[in-house]
Amino acid sequence: MNVFKFGGASVSTTERVHNVAGILRRYASDTLLVVISAMGKTTNALEKVVEAFYRKDKEEALRLFEGIKESHRAAAADLGLADTSFLNDFFTEVEWLLHDNPVRDFDYYYDQVVCVGELLSTAIVSRFLNEQGVANTWLDVRDIIRTDDNFRDARIDWEYTAQRVRDTVRPLLAAPGAIVLTQGFIGATDGNESTTLGREGSDFTAAIFANLLEAEGQTIWKDVQGVMNADPKQYEGAQWIRELNYREVIEMAYYGAQVIHPKTIKPLQNKGIPLYVKSFLDPEAEGTIIHNSQVNGLPPIIVYKRSQVLVELSSRDFSFVGEGLTAELYRIFETLKFRPNLTQNGAVSFLCVVDDHAEKVDALAHHAAQYFDVQLRRNLTLLTVRHHNDELVSRLCGDSGIILKQQTPETLQVLLTQ
Ligand code: ASP
Ligand code: MG
Repeated sequence: MNVFKFGGASVSTTERVHNVAGILRRYASDTLLVVISAMGKTTNALEKVVEAFYRKDKEEALRLFEGIKESHRAAAADLGLADTSFLNDFFTEVEWLLHDNPVRDFDYYYDQVVCVGELLSTAIVSRFLNEQGVANTWLDVRDIIRTDDNFRDARIDWEYTAQRVRDTVRPLLAAPGAIVLTQGFIGATDGNESTTLGREGSDFTAAIFANLLEAEGQTIWKDVQGVMNADPKQYEGAQWIRELNYREVIEMAYYGAQVIHPKTIKPLQNKGIPLYVKSFLDPEAEGTIIHNSQVNGLPPIIVYKRSQVLVELSSRDFSFVGEGLTAELYRIFETLKFRPNLTQNGAVSFLCVVDDHAEKVDALAHHAAQYFDVQLRRNLTLLTVRHHNDELVSRLCGDSGIILKQQTPETLQVLLTQ
């Protein structure tokens, strides 16, 4: 039993969906649970629909959604599915909602609308595969993955989910070579409201299944050769890494490397299940293995986070920023679901570096102003280097001014002016 996850890029064109069929044929004798993301940039497009709906621009929301309907009908037709009426129920579910006026939280509507991207994608690919002779059973993952109602960042109810996996998913995988095809990223509350697990959450869903099914391994199929030591778009000398341990990957994700969803590792590590990252464009290539072993001789790992904001909080009357004020500040972060990427405590000030998420930065500044003088500095870059050396770091910093620097023997972080 293995778990495969195909990201949005792997099903973004007709040719690529054919390629997925080819990969599954190569593994015909394996019993597989397959998680597939929304096609291409569908999730971003659906976000635009919810935004329009929430600012009460119903017409625009419906117009944008019409575009998404069209592109999915076209995708299905291009794959040779003559009758696309199986998509209509998914469309209707969203359209009903779009005809209403928003009365609840933005995050609630976000989840009800955005989840349709994964449902459409998997419904199309599942049918196509069945017609191609790659027999599979499509599952609505919302019947399996139960979460709380913390919309957009829902937490898993492991006990209920485990029971559903045992009762519903396992029997479908009983026959050798069976394939269950389902969605990542989404779940449902006990009241059957849809939820999402955070952007790029499909990796995490795959890991939940791998854990509960005690899979031999999980493979994430991507458009890169495996895990690289830097984003090739940001760093020319990026190189492929053959082997990593769980700890290293969790650290990379934490510092912002867009490798794997940060929550993915724990369910795998807990059961000692290896994670493979492989290229769907070159399935024979080795890829990266991530497991428990100690890995020596890693290259420096470089992560850039752009558009960072330095929030400088100073106590008004020269009183110390002690535990009380710091605790207050973290409560604000918690309420806003906003995580500082770097913090530094001084006698009468507290510095934190955050993503430039305009609404959250404003809210943070507003709340913090109860206790502190607040100053913001925008357009900064946070550079993190694991397994750093001086020569590389000074090369990476170049002519940029260094605003803040923190370092441990393993990890160095610098906040740069550009
Ligand atoms: N479709 C979702 C996203 O784009 C989830 C995923 O692909 O992992 O964030
Ligand atoms: Mg994706």
